[in-house]
Amino acid sequence: MEFTTQIKKTLCCDVLVVGGGVAGFSAAVSASRCGMNVILAEQGGYLGGTATAGLVAPFMTCYDTKGEKQIIRGIFKETIDCLIKIDGAKNPSECRKCDSYSGYKLKGHLGTTPYDREKLKFVMEQMCEESGVQLKYHFTLVGVNVSEKHIRSCVFATKNGFYEIEAKQFIDCSGDADLCYLAGGEYEFSDETNQLQPVSTFMLIDGVDKQAMDRAVLDKDARGRAFMDIVEDEKREGRFPCGTKKVRIYEQMNGVWAVNMCQIDEPFDVTDPELVTKAEIEGRKQASVIFDMLRRRIPGMQNIRLLQTSETLGIRESRRIVGEYKLTLDDMLASVVFEDAIAVVASSVDVHTNGAVDYKPFANDRPYTIPYRALVHKDFDNLLGAGKIISSDRYAHGAVRVMPPAMATGQAAGVGAVLGVKYGTKAKDVDIAELKEVLKGQGAYLY
Ligand SMILES: Cc1cc2nc3c(=O)[nH]c(=O)nc-3n(C[C@H](O)[C@H](O)[C@H](O)COP(=O)(O)OP(=O)(O)OC[C@H]3O[C@@H](n4cnc5c(N)ncnc54)[C@H](O)[C@@H]3O)c2cc1C
Repeated sequence: MEFTTQIKKTLCCDVLVVGGGVAGFSAAVSASRCGMNVILAEQGGYLGGTATAGLVAPFMTCYDTKGEKQIIRGIFKETIDCLIKIDGAKNPSECRKCDSYSGYKLKGHLGTTPYDREKLKFVMEQMCEESGVQLKYHFTLVGVNVSEKHIRSCVFATKNGFYEIEAKQFIDCSGDADLCYLAGGEYEFSDETNQLQPVSTFMLIDGVDKQAMDRAVLDKDARGRAFMDIVEDEKREGRFPCGTKKVRIYEQMNGVWAVNMCQIDEPFDVTDPELVTKAEIEGRKQASVIFDMLRRRIPGMQNIRLLQTSETLGIRESRRIVGEYKLTLDDMLASVVFEDAIAVVASSVDVHTNGAVDYKPFANDRPYTIPYRALVHKDFDNLLGAGKIISSDRYAHGAVRVMPPAMATGQAAGVGAVLGVKYGTKAKDVDIAELKEVLKGQGAYLY
């Protein structure tokens, strides 16, 4: 059988954003607010990606390394402010390390933001509508038309046949660099180690006795151990399904807690749908075993209820674009201030390995920056990438993949695309001074 693509309908816009996770949302809103005609195409039926369907929580820190100043602002801050107004998030200034909202973590969790996912979906849609973004749900990217180094259009599979969307600038926010991949652009997957951070199935529970939990976790002898001995004990008995070493739980809004403990230890190709199907099933089996263990063994959890497992597997690490510049761990540890810095970030470098988290301590107290060039694909005139797919090595990726920086890179990619359209330039040639000015005008914090 020969497979042909009959285009049913063609749409046009200035900027096409593919993927409606936190990065794509930020890219679309920032571009649309600059007066561009923007389409945001998403395969699901709502926004947020890993932040909503993946049930991950909380937003990691938006503060500097000392937890004194909020350094990720712009669309991230606006979104959180909207959520706070409808009791959909806690102010990150109230969330200090070692409390229930930061998962009782001692490291890297100062100024996190717990949020309500349903309210996040609503706020994101409202902000898109108010900014004039055209949302296209149930559009799955399946093809890209390229001539020379220029992307012409993207093709989407829909229930109604194939739709083509033409644009002047394209932003890949698919979390898997699908646009780059389908366009034949260079990308990286893992590195010479062939390792990948494990995928996880999140679950939500309620019925936790918070006071009992606080007492048990914050007891001075137990502090930082997070019931490690109980997990070890269960493993010895053959009753724990994966390599996770601790109880990892995060208090959310309105008595809901997120549990981040199920994981598939062995790396696999997270773009292979058959392997992903197996992992979804295995993740849910693990959720059932871990839920049972929490109820049996953990103080304050005797009356918990399982509310939900994640709709999609949480994929920490997938394809990354190869950009005009590759952000490295060394850049971060040395807090390099790039001339084309479009975000200032202090998220800790934490790469999940088999059961543990590999933290890389900063050499100083200064945040690091993300250069615009890490968002610009090196093979095309008009392709930017944002969110967890930006051009970085694996360890740098381990820091910038979290949601506040993903939103900052999304916002910057949106403005970069706008300037490309406005002046008819290649994405890599936009004026950095103007880019920074527009970002600052949109509330972003930059040096
Ligand atoms: C297990 C786990 C725990 C995490 N914990 C935290 C945490 O505590 N705090 C934190 O801040 N971050 C955390 N993260 C990281 C963070 O959630 C993600 O890296 C971030 O949300 C990525 O955002 P994104 O917009 O780049 O991509 P995604 O959230 O992956 O969004 C991509 C979007 O593109 C859509 N899409 C994909 N392919 C196509 C296609 N072909 N056509 C159309 N649409 C498509 C998807 O449906 C999705 O909506 C965690 C991640 C994982 C996996």
